[in-house]
Amino acid sequence: MSVIGIDMDGVIADFPSLAMKSIKSIFGIDLTMEDLTVPNMAGIIYPMLPDGVRSLYKTPGELYDIICHPRFFEEIEPYEGAIEAVKRIQENHDVVFITKRLEWQYCPIGKANWLQKHFGDMPRKVIMIDNMESKGLVAVDILFDDDPRAISSLEYSVGVLVNRPWNRSFREEATGIYTIDDFKVAPDIIDDILSGLYIY
Ligand SMILES: [Mg+2]
Repeated sequence: MSVIGIDMDGVIADFPSLAMKSIKSIFGIDLTMEDLTVPNMAGIIYPMLPDGVRSLYKTPGELYDIICHPRFFEEIEPYEGAIEAVKRIQENHDVVFITKRLEWQYCPIGKANWLQKHFGDMPRKVIMIDNMESKGLVAVDILFDDDPRAISSLEYSVGVLVNRPWNRSFREEATGIYTIDDFKVAPDIIDDILSGLYIY
């Protein structure tokens, strides 16, 4: 049995789709997935806001108070097949959800409720960190994550990058990193990665 770390947003929870809908209805900004070239949606729209609106927020992170209503996280859809994939991993390994807290007051309880909604009483461990680079300090055997900052920070774990539009430029430049196109395949490749058989 190994310890498998799994990120939430952008890996099993489709945060971007719901956030894009919210951004469109609140700010009238119509983003597509391909506009998400970096893993920082608030940072992407911050410069697009009219000056009078932007000046209300000192940092892009403060926008999450507006983009995310109190029950926002509970309403996020899982990526197709992601919940089933986590459950399959759980059959043979210890799963730890390693997730960054957004600058938004309802984020921790929202994430806890989301896990309860989709995994019920399945035993689980959650590590919530405040900045992406801190993921590097957590020792798991493998971490599945979509954020280049997380993958680059790993000191004690093998990283597997889940391919998304916002990590494309990193993927094109990075060498020697494991990548997968869909988290659904994660349960099938864990043993190969741990035994060194999985090809980059
Ligand atoms: Mg993520």
